[in-house]
Amino acid sequence: MSVQENYRGRFAPSPTGSLHFGSLVAAVASYADALHHRGNWLIRMEDVDEGRTVKGSADDILRTLEALGFEWQEPVIFQSRRKARYADVLAWLAKQDLTYACRCSRREIAAQATSGIEGPVYPGTCRQVGVKDRTGKAIRLRTGTEEICFEDRIQGKHCQVLSRDIGDFIVRRADGYTAYQLAVVIDDADQRINRIVRGADLLLSTPRQIYLQKLLGLPHPSYAHVPLVVDRQGRKLSKQDQAHPVSATAALPGLLSAWHFLRQSPPPSGIGSPADFWRWAAGNWNINKLRSSTR
Ligand code: GLU
Repeated sequence: MSVQENYRGRFAPSPTGSLHFGSLVAAVASYADALHHRGNWLIRMEDVDEGRTVKGSADDILRTLEALGFEWQEPVIFQSRRKARYADVLAWLAKQDLTYACRCSRREIAAQATSGIEGPVYPGTCRQVGVKDRTGKAIRLRTGTEEICFEDRIQGKHCQVLSRDIGDFIVRRADGYTAYQLAVVIDDADQRINRIVRGADLLLSTPRQIYLQKLLGLPHPSYAHVPLVVDRQGRKLSKQDQAHPVSATAALPGLLSAWHFLRQSPPPSGIGSPADFWRWAAGNWNINKLRSSTR
């Protein structure tokens, strides 16, 4: 990023259960990085897929973050309240002929697809068909053959050719919900987020998001993807597993475990509260410790 306006970071949990240790690690990394740069830090509830939302979990996550001493500067935004905005952008993309409706089933796709880096590459069956009625169909974005590269602050240089590695991807699902890839790009731009620190499971999504930013004429944030917390089988912890919920009553131990996982130097003795911890962490966060550990 050439001209860096004031740092604006964010944490964007999906309210599908209580905060678990894996998302706490992403929250601690993004908050510590924002504090270290004297930046703003915002929270966005990613409840775009309302079928997965668990009632009460957004409040539960916010209460836990508060107990752990996190402070956010602006009101929390909810994706479920931004449908009109997403629909406007989808209409604009359609008008530019950048999208098309797709009625292929998973089975039809699997029969013809080559395999990409995240599963089957959509074979482009509906690209030329010109499906007029878009209701009840998925909407796909036409991808290009140019290489998209970015320099991740932790993982280093990462490149993809979307048409080869991913294929034309879904921006509106057949059930009518906006796809995560599009919602996240619109929201980050509307919230003027310029530094993204999040879990490494989204590293492979980033070129899709950069491509959308280009098409929509939006600025590109910088990215840092922190190592994922995995279970004994090597799978990402997920809220659905009820995995390792973070306790609001053991705030400091939770923060210290996340800090340790992020390979940061241990704080001095005498840190007795989350507030003490964050005061100290602001000056001592060093993202490069993750860089050397992952490369
Ligand atoms: N909502 C996503 C999650 O909970 C994070 C998305 C992002 O940080 O871009 O994993």
